[in-house]
Amino acid sequence: MELTGKDVMAKLWRKPFDAEIKASKPGRITIEKERCKGCSFCTEFCPRDVLVMSQEINSKGYTLATVADEKKCLACGLCEVICPEYAIKVNT
Ligand code: SF4
Ligand code: SF4
Repeated sequence: MELTGKDVMAKLWRKPFDAEIKASKPGRITIEKERCKGCSFCTEFCPRDVLVMSQEINSKGYTLATVADEKKCLACGLCEVICPEYAIKVNT
């Protein structure tokens, strides 16, 4: 069976012992629709499944990523770094 990006992240993602004490506030995610090219890197690698691909299409014809459940966001910034189009901004 072939491993997906999510399988790999699930294996690597661990919960620290002091996670409840040190828990950060959820990040606020902004996706600039006209920059998104629908590559799905962000939805594939977000460790908390905060982002999903939507049915919405931008003016260039790309299917857009969107925020499914911002409460689950860890503000880790991975999506912001991994997006090749600089379409995502994570604010804390
Ligand atoms: S900041 Fe981290 S947890 Fe939040 S949406 Fe981006 S990748 Fe997911
Ligand atoms: S990584 Fe960037 S370009 Fe790719 S789907 Fe996500 S927001 Fe769009």
